[in-house]
Amino acid sequence: MCLRAMIGNPIDRGQMHLGETLSEPIEALRIVDDYYYYKAIEIIHDRCNHNRENRQNPLRTDAGGLLTGLIYCGECGERLTFNHCRKVVENSTGRHEYRWDVYRCFRKINYRGSCAGQSTYAAWKIEDVVLDVVRSFFDRIRRIPEASQLKAAMRREESTQAKALADAAAAVDKAAKAVAALEDQAIKALTGESQLDLGIINQLMPKQKAALEAAREEYQRVLMVNQAEEEMLEAKRLQARKMAEWGQLFEDAPLSQKQMILAEIIDRVEVRRGYQVTIKFKLTARQFLEPDADAAGDQKAS
Ligand SMILES: [Zn+2]
Repeated sequence: MCLRAMIGNPIDRGQMHLGETLSEPIEALRIVDDYYYYKAIEIIHDRCNHNRENRQNPLRTDAGGLLTGLIYCGECGERLTFNHCRKVVENSTGRHEYRWDVYRCFRKINYRGSCAGQSTYAAWKIEDVVLDVVRSFFDRIRRIPEASQLKAAMRREESTQAKALADAAAAVDKAAKAVAALEDQAIKALTGESQLDLGIINQLMPKQKAALEAAREEYQRVLMVNQAEEEMLEAKRLQARKMAEWGQLFEDAPLSQKQMILAEIIDRVEVRRGYQVTIKFKLTARQFLEPDADAAGDQKAS
């Protein structure tokens, strides 16, 4: 059987049908970014050309399904629960027992009219789609050359920060020297060493002191901005390191660890009738794949 998941509904990337034509994506309506939109179509396409006879289901377990807690009915919004199904068939060739795992929409089962989705979905079908997308996600993280783009970006930001702080410090220094010079002139005027009029010096003094105060405040401001950016960079570094580690662990990890890793990178998986699967990654995961999304999504103080 060919899994013809109806992934790739243009509405997922925010396109509207206008009669026979499709609009350009409308960002406000988008629920999946183009990479995953097209990747999912590609995976489904590949899958249809594969022989599935030798399929095993290593994810069968009593400890819950791989996607327990993350998976929702896309039609009614209810969280799907993991269940085992069992069926015994007796015929001329004997007694056969079949077991399989499903994700079940209890709203559909309990209130028939309230959900347009299916009451159950074969677990392996959805899990395979999610696993393929997650694998390609980690592949992409690996392909970001050793997270070097991130490092380069960090170094750029760090050197910009250092320059801003040095400039602010230099401005404080300059203003302090101007005040000191003026004070020096005031003393010289008092002792008769200078011809400069003390009245003029006294007029200039408040202005110079205000300039020094302003320079000090600016220095404090830059310092705080730098600290905030440093903390953000540190958080990013930590995330990058974790993503890389998870990518290495994932394939051979036991189920419980796989569940944990998925919960860290995936916000939710939605399934609609006919196995339309939508995977929503967490922002912390997405930022490593979409440098632009980060810039657009983050409020930057500048
Ligand atoms: Zn439902």
